Amino acid sequence: MIPVYLDNNATTRTDEAVVEAMLPFFTGQFGNASSSHAFGSEVAGAVRTARRQLQALLGAAHDSELVFTSGGTEADNAALWSALDVQPGRNRIVTSAVEHPAILACATWLSQTRDVELVTIGVDGSGRLDIDAYRAALGPQTALASVMWANNETGVLNPVEDLARYAHEAGALFHTDAVQAVGKVAIDLSASEIDMLSLSGHKLHAPKGIGALYVKKGVKFRPLLRGGRQERGRRAGTENVPGIVGLGKAAEIAAERLGEEQTRVRALRDRFEHGIVRRLGQCFVLGGEADRLPNTCDIAFDCLDAEAILMKLEQAGIAASSGSACASGSMEPSHVLRAMDVPASALQGAIRFSLSRDTTAGEIDRVLDALPPIILRLRAMSPLWQDRHGQGAGPAEPAEALVAMAGE
Ligand SMILES: *Cc1c(COP(=O)(O)O)cnc(C)c1O
Repeated sequence: MIPVYLDNNATTRTDEAVVEAMLPFFTGQFGNASSSHAFGSEVAGAVRTARRQLQALLGAAHDSELVFTSGGTEADNAALWSALDVQPGRNRIVTSAVEHPAILACATWLSQTRDVELVTIGVDGSGRLDIDAYRAALGPQTALASVMWANNETGVLNPVEDLARYAHEAGALFHTDAVQAVGKVAIDLSASEIDMLSLSGHKLHAPKGIGALYVKKGVKFRPLLRGGRQERGRRAGTENVPGIVGLGKAAEIAAERLGEEQTRVRALRDRFEHGIVRRLGQCFVLGGEADRLPNTCDIAFDCLDAEAILMKLEQAGIAASSGSACASGSMEPSHVLRAMDVPASALQGAIRFSLSRDTTAGEIDRVLDALPPIILRLRAMSPLWQDRHGQGAGPAEPAEALVAMAGE
């Protein structure tokens, strides 16, 4: 049985065409892009092409606005450090409670080890940022506001253009972690107020270990890594040429297939989600009321344990992920779901299904067949479920009540 992979927000399969494009740069074209001989100049040309391919996907005005990094985490860290470094009079970072650890852990570290004030803005039950609190937190002390474009667990989208404008009204810089957005939603940075944007190759069918930070022309930037003059002095270290070439190719393909994310992938996701809610009831579609990525479906099953569901799915050849991170052996509910005030009974039962352009209708059918019996069996075995919802394993409610609950 071929496994069904529905964990594309964790990582995607590298596209065959991306691998093809990369291979020569491990063998014949092994030069160092900084070398002045032919070995180097060939490779430098390939890096230039990749930068333009990425520029086109982002609609950036200049290819020099892109700095290749080792991934999303490095791009996020570089943005935070730089914003503080270039504005010595400002020491506040404003961010959201649902950011990826690449932002939250770095910002927390900065606030604990130097004179940096961290303000974390909450979200509502659907994962939407508290815009009033965000605006109130911006002021003359704010160096940077950093709010993700799309959340990796729920797929909830933030109004980043508005957020950038508010940050600018306070004289602060605006950064967005767009790792989950790039390749899934249309982006046009040429007409944007966003100052910095992070992306990662392996979330858009390029390999792991390559990413980029966009730094708008005119925005001051201090490098995180110091050393050689690579990347116009903004990121030292010999370029990861195969990775860069792969990211360029992946960007080109993503631009061609962006429409498919918005139509075919979204339709598959919606069919899956409605099918599950209709068949099972008593499950919360997390972020279901908000604008969301077309590929992400985060569902919390009331009174159940995500690990048990994932184990049964695994046995059925289906890979998804839970909203919990296993910390020191104990299951910690996800910080994203806690920030959304997901009811305690549902907090441990959240499963994220994330599709991609590789996902087929047949695969969705398989999950729609396999998941309901798993949930019904687990409900029948759960004392908590029996307590709250009675003896039946559901669906206990008429369809309308279920939809209301799904969007609660
Ligand atoms: C995956 C991810 C990152 C980290 O990117 P890496 O390339 O794995 O370092 C950062 N932010 C978000 C939202 C992500 O989903």
